[in-house]
Order: sequence, then C-alpha cells, then structure tokens
Amino acid sequence: MGLRKELDQKDPLAIGQELHRFVGELYPICRSITGNGVRQTLAFIQNKIPLQTFEVPTGTAVFDWTVPKEWNIRDAYIKGPAGKKVVDFQECNLHVLNYSTPVRATMPLSALRPHLFTIPEKPDWIPYRTSYYKEDWGFCLSHNQMLTLEDGDYEVVIDSTLEDGHLTYGEYFLPGRSSDEILISCHACHPSLANDNLSGLAVATFLAQLLSGRDLRYSYRFLFIPGTIGAITWLARNRDTTGRIRHGLVLTCIGDRGRFHYKKSRQGNAEIDRVVDHLLRQHCESPKILEFSPYGYDERQYCSPGFNLAVGCLMRSVWGTFPEYHTSADNLNFIQPMQLAESLSLCAAIFEVLEENRRYRNLSPYCEPQLGRRNLYASTGGGAIEAQINARLWVLNLSDGEHSLLDIAERSGHPFSLIHEAAQTLRESGLLAIVSENTGETTRLEEESQEKTGDSSSDHSCGSSSRS
Ligand SMILES: [Zn+2]
Repeated sequence: MGLRKELDQKDPLAIGQELHRFVGELYPICRSITGNGVRQTLAFIQNKIPLQTFEVPTGTAVFDWTVPKEWNIRDAYIKGPAGKKVVDFQECNLHVLNYSTPVRATMPLSALRPHLFTIPEKPDWIPYRTSYYKEDWGFCLSHNQMLTLEDGDYEVVIDSTLEDGHLTYGEYFLPGRSSDEILISCHACHPSLANDNLSGLAVATFLAQLLSGRDLRYSYRFLFIPGTIGAITWLARNRDTTGRIRHGLVLTCIGDRGRFHYKKSRQGNAEIDRVVDHLLRQHCESPKILEFSPYGYDERQYCSPGFNLAVGCLMRSVWGTFPEYHTSADNLNFIQPMQLAESLSLCAAIFEVLEENRRYRNLSPYCEPQLGRRNLYASTGGGAIEAQINARLWVLNLSDGEHSLLDIAERSGHPFSLIHEAAQTLRESGLLAIVSENTGETTRLEEESQEKTGDSSSDHSCGSSSRS
C-alpha cells in the first residue's frame, strides 16, 4: 500500500515535530484510569480521528475485576507553617498521589511525612505514584524539596472526588476488505508523563490518520484505554468478537532515544512477532527482541490464556529500566521528534508487511521459467540488480502456495520489500498468482493471471491443482 514510502518521502523531522506538538498538548492534562482527564484526552484525539467513546459504569463486573469509582481532581496543595504553598498540584499534576481521596486538614510534619513520596537517588525528580485499589492520599515531591520542610503545622488540601461514575475509553474502527482485524492498543491513564503513555497515543493517532481512506486488506481497531482495567473492561465487553483479531500491537514508550525493543506475543511465533523481528533486523540499529512474560503493559490481558491473542508490545526503552520511568523526568525533553517519527515509520512498515504478506503460486513450476525472454533477467548490472534477480528466483522457487512472502524473505535473507517487489513483477508477467487466504483455492486473481498467460498446458497443471 506504499504507506512507508509515502512517509519516507516527507520530512521526518517535520512529522516528528508534529507528533511532539501533539504530545505537548496532551501533556498538562491530569489523567488517571477514570475521570475527566481521560475524557479531555479522548476529546483532543477526536480532533484528528473520529474516535468513539464508551462510558462503563462504576461497579460493572469485568471478569475477575470491577470497574472502580471515578476519580476527579480540581486542586491540591500543602501550605507550610509560614502560610506559603510548598507543594502545588497546579504546578505539576504528579505532585498528587493519583487517586487520592479528598483531604482538608492541618497536621504536624510528623503526621504528614508518611503521606510524602520522594526518590532519594534522584533528588530533583518528582515520582509518579498511584493508589487505585486502596483508598489513600498522598503527595509526591522532589527529595530536595522535602528536605527543606521545617517542623510546624501544615495545611493539607486535596480537592478531589472519588465516587460512582464511569470508566471511559476510546475506540476507532477502520473497516478493511476483510473482517479480520489488526488491534492497536495504547494506555491513556498517566498524567504528565511523555514517553510512558503519550508517545504511544500520538503514534497510534497519527497511524490511524494515515490509514484512513485507504483500501485496506485488514480492518483496524485502535484502542485508547486506561491501562489494565481498561483492557480488561474492553475484553470483557468484546469477548465474543476477539476471534477476529489476527494481529495486534501494544504501543508504549516509543519516543525516547533508546533502541527498539519488541516483546513477543505469548504465542511467540505469531505472524506479528515474525514481521516485527524481520523489520527490526533489516532496518534498525541493534534492536532487541524480548520473549513474552506475563508482566508489562496490556499485552498481559490480550495474551491471557483465555484469549491468547497474537499481540506483542513495541517499545524503545523498556518500562522500568530507564531512570526517568514514572518520574517528572519523563517529560517533553525526554522524547524526541526524530525518534517519534522513526517509530511511526516502523509501525507503518509493520502494517504494510502484514497487508502484503500473502502466499503465491508459481504458474510455471517445471524448471525455471525463462526470465531473460521476459526482460526479468538483466545480464549486466550492479549488486542491486543482482539482488533483484535473486529475489525473483527465490519467489518463484518458494511460491508453491505454501510459503508466504515473509517465509521467503526470512529464508532468502532479503528484505520483505524486495521480495514483495519481485512478487509484483512476476505477477504482472503472468508467472505468479495469488493464493486465497483460507482455503488455498484458486482465486479470481489467480484465474485472471492464468487467462493472461493464455496457456493452459503443462505449466499450469501444477499451478491450478489447488490444494483443498
Ligand atoms: Zn506507566
């Protein structure tokens, strides 16, 4: 579908800056797993794509979980003995323990201390902490800031509500020719954290925009959901149709300077796992492939044994391994336009391979067809021409209706794009026909191809002997 080529013709820095600006707009919003922060975030994404939003009431049972009370916050601060604000939610939303219950009290520093969270090893950074499932309140601040607090009485205010309401998530469905789906999922529940959550939201939104209006083989479903409880809620509400999901990607932490990491699906050798592995090896510097583990982002839910969907997780730096993770240092300077653009381009390439990865049948399988006669075998030329011819020979040899183009790319060592180009050329020359998805039967396209060659002799006896 030429998606990546189209992207690569544009200025990556300009695209990256657009992605970065998008993150910048969402950055100040105080998100959580429920509440108006998620709604504002989804409303902002709706300026780009016609996202549908869903509201699931508090108390709804979703598998072994229950949709929690809705949390909203207007203000929070701590005033010191001198009457000055020493911690202010309006300056940084990470200052409040996310999901804090409302508080209005005056207390000595000794009573306040158990409610204060810092990172002594990174004394200038504010940690990000949550308490979703245990009612509590607290403040997060830099360690240096805490060291300045003197004894005395502190006025503590958290103007929040935690009451029955809804869990909100967004979904964008792009229909393709097939009802088989590709799922793209990202979490939208972290407050001002740029790499962890916003980079994924930005890349997913831009991808959805890129794919809109195209003739697509697969249908695409984009989910913008609160982490864990959002994915569980979505799966509970869509349990009967998850069988349509053929491939899926969780996108997170894809804006920093780190190298790419891909965590495989639980299946381990699903098509999405192989496609990402292939592209990373072909195009990216020292990528790392990680085996599946039942800890991480929402791939945990999609890959739970009851679903076992082919969903992997694409990251640059891995959550929990970079010092900025879940701190105020995961800010707009931590993510880079060029890295965001590169992640977008990689995702486009992944979908392009999934779209084009088909099986073909060589219509002239008895010995090599004479490529020279068809101008498909240049006798002179450099390495690029040689690779092109080599790719054609591989495609002809392995196109027995059994091997996909990805199989051929993996076995030949050629990039998928070259193998795909060879298949296109051979198909146009009447030497190759596409094999239909599920049954291996001769498709309309294959019949067309046979008609084009105008030959019904031995060449085709194999080509048309469809497997049933
Ligand atoms: Zn996180």
